[in-house]
Amino acid sequence: MNTGMHVLVVDDEESLRGLIAQILLEDGHEVTEAASGEQALEEFRKKHHPLVITDIRMGGISGIQLLREIKQIQPETQVIIMTSHASLDTALTALRAGAYDYLIKPFDDLDLISAVVNRAIDKINLISENRILVDKLKNYNEELEYVNRTLRELAIRDGLTGLHNHRYFQECLTAELARAHRYERAFSLIILDVDFFKHYNDTHGHLEGDRLLCALAQFLKGCVRKSDVVARYGGEEFVAILPETARDGAVAFAEGLRKRIADYSFPHRETQPLGSLTVSLGVSTYPADGVDGPALIHFADQALYLAKRQGRNMVC
Ligand code: GH3
Ligand code: MG
Ligand code: MG
Repeated sequence: MNTGMHVLVVDDEESLRGLIAQILLEDGHEVTEAASGEQALEEFRKKHHPLVITDIRMGGISGIQLLREIKQIQPETQVIIMTSHASLDTALTALRAGAYDYLIKPFDDLDLISAVVNRAIDKINLISENRILVDKLKNYNEELEYVNRTLRELAIRDGLTGLHNHRYFQECLTAELARAHRYERAFSLIILDVDFFKHYNDTHGHLEGDRLLCALAQFLKGCVRKSDVVARYGGEEFVAILPETARDGAVAFAEGLRKRIADYSFPHRETQPLGSLTVSLGVSTYPADGVDGPALIHFADQALYLAKRQGRNMVC
């Protein structure tokens, strides 16, 4: 047994309309009666009944016209039409226009009315359940996309400084290598290491050391172009990829960076061995210094160690 449904019953013959209404009421449904297509439309506009049972032949607008109007207002409404044997072809027209089923007058078997109505109600319920499921699925998908985006963002960010991390740097390096190879372009890599950072930690504690790394990360972010990638390589080492930049340009950029950092008033900088917070930088350029990731990183690393050996606060 289906749960009660709001049904609109339309027929210009009062006795027939009453009969259908009575059967529906006994089956537990709520019924609105209309004596014409016009009245039915008025009722339907006031309230979108999920099920409409209508006679085909009426004075004024016909059952088929009513069906078309209703489907335009609410396509999910199910319409059962009533017809006599004589106008079965009209019943077919109604089915083609989107009627769910038809009942043939006069009614020999009243149980058939309940059965047809129940089937229509099953369909209405299925459609509504289906819509709820589709909505839920849409929500789940949106949530999943959001979680995936958040996870992806977390996976490529450094937890301390919020800069991109080593993983992201490697991804970008691979992409940049492919691009530079394909279009025969140059690009450069800079590895930057804080000078005497152990001293900084030992003097001011690791928390202050962490704060300095965060401040330096922000500073670096403000120095690079939008197309450059800057990431925390690990520890107190940072790395930058400069697309479309040959050695001269990269060295000039690194030198500018070195100077700006040495001049900037980072906290406690006066306590550092060189009297300021300084960094050493190593530069490598594709393809002159290496044609794959490990070779370019190794070259920049060697240059960085040279800068350290030669006194720090230097670009090599
Ligand atoms: P150099 O001038 O030769 O680079 O000397 P340095 O002291 O900077 O280098 P060293 O490799 O001796 O020390 C690096 C220090 O960086 C040691 C390590 O404890 C510290 N460090 C690495 N990661 C972090 C971090 O996330 N937070 C803090 N506070 N310290 C870190
Ligand atoms: Mg280091
Ligand atoms: Mg260091």
